[in-house]
Amino acid sequence: MATMGALLFWLLLMLGLGWALRALLRRHRPDYRSLADRIDALLPQTQCGQCHYPGCRPYALAIAQGEAEINQCPPGGEAGIRALAALLDREPKSLSPVHGVEKPPQVARIREAECIGCFKCIAACPVDAILGAPKFLHVVVEDLCTGCELCIPPCPVDCIELRPAALPIRLLP
Ligand code: SF4
Ligand code: SF4
Ligand code: SF4
Repeated sequence: MATMGALLFWLLLMLGLGWALRALLRRHRPDYRSLADRIDALLPQTQCGQCHYPGCRPYALAIAQGEAEINQCPPGGEAGIRALAALLDREPKSLSPVHGVEKPPQVARIREAECIGCFKCIAACPVDAILGAPKFLHVVVEDLCTGCELCIPPCPVDCIELRPAALPIRLLP
């Protein structure tokens, strides 16, 4: 009987310690989401995937969790890296060449006479900047286009071109 009592005592003690440890870890866990919000606010929102994440928000989360470096975003360029470094109190790094090169802001334009209305570019655009319907010509809404280039490879007739944007897509600090 005394052995059962001792076992029960140790069982309750272990459960209590486990609960206390979990509560302690929860209290001191960094607020990744709030940090990710601040990182995301510095990213260009091009949603191009060059950082090797499926958009700016997933990349921001990965940086906040220490899983990605701050130099993986070519559209943000060196200014973006400096802004991220300042936010995270780190040393800036050069843009990682694995992820691409910094380019001037650009927008896509569809050569309407060549468009066959196949709809493939609409499916590829991450920001819904292309208007059109199957079998009708498609057009790019320049104010929405981030110049991410994702619509270009799927076009079967190669009728989408890029040209310089009138204004920078986003001014980073
Ligand atoms: S490379 Fe930059 S702009 Fe493109 S999805 Fe990643 S964070 Fe966004
Ligand atoms: S129109 Fe093309 S380049 Fe512009 S945002 Fe959409 S996919 Fe990117
Ligand atoms: S992918 Fe090319 S051909 Fe097809 S709708 Fe878009 S612009 Fe037109």
